[in-house]
Amino acid sequence: MIPEECQERLKRLNQVFLEENRNLNLSALRTQELSWTGNILDALSILSTPLLSPLSAQKKILDLGTGGGFPLLPLALCVPGCTFVGLDATAKKISAVERIAHAMELRNVTLITGRSEEVARDPAHRERYDLVLSRAVAPLHTLLELTAPFAKVGGHVVLWKSVRIEKELKDSLLARAELSCQLTNPYEYVLPDNRGKRQLLIFQKRFTTQEKYPRAVGIPKKKPLM
Ligand code: SAH
Repeated sequence: MIPEECQERLKRLNQVFLEENRNLNLSALRTQELSWTGNILDALSILSTPLLSPLSAQKKILDLGTGGGFPLLPLALCVPGCTFVGLDATAKKISAVERIAHAMELRNVTLITGRSEEVARDPAHRERYDLVLSRAVAPLHTLLELTAPFAKVGGHVVLWKSVRIEKELKDSLLARAELSCQLTNPYEYVLPDNRGKRQLLIFQKRFTTQEKYPRAVGIPKKKPLM
């Protein structure tokens, strides 16, 4: 799963991240080992799908709710030919990710502090991304409303989820229809060290997002489409 030439820099990224994590509560995974499997390897799982590889070029990729920089940072490190944007509502987290990206000399990363419901109204970001990624941000029905407006028509939304989420999937039927997101085959993977089975839910956006989405800040969560 890890490109050979990235190994050493990924280890360094893990260290730099853990140093930031000592001062800020970015992740509950506080040891080298836990963060390596749970953050770094978990982020890289998408490199086993046809959507992204270390040789991919010129794709624009958004990580919505990047928090401490996952899946953003390991992917930006391993896929230098693509441009990555990390978005989060919490300024302190974005500052930490900026420091990490700077320390790692990741020139293909841009960071934005803001609420996705507002940023998605900006023509510079609406329907501009080939891939929209998100991990551990919201239940599926809410998350599709937050992510889909950023994807180009024909682009993909990729969500990091646990397995056995039948109810969450069922509850997302209206959101999928309203936001023209078609579920394709999920990619299931097993993390080492008994960290269990996880999956990437992959959606293709089929049509332009209706102007009314996303609704105002907080509404996608308070009144999910279902
Ligand atoms: N993706 C990271 C962080 C998950 S925590 C990881 O997997 O480790 C969820 C993050 O999403 C928080 O940092 C929170 O600030 C951000 N978030 C939640 N809703 C958001 C929204 N509507 N717009 C921007 N950021 C949001």
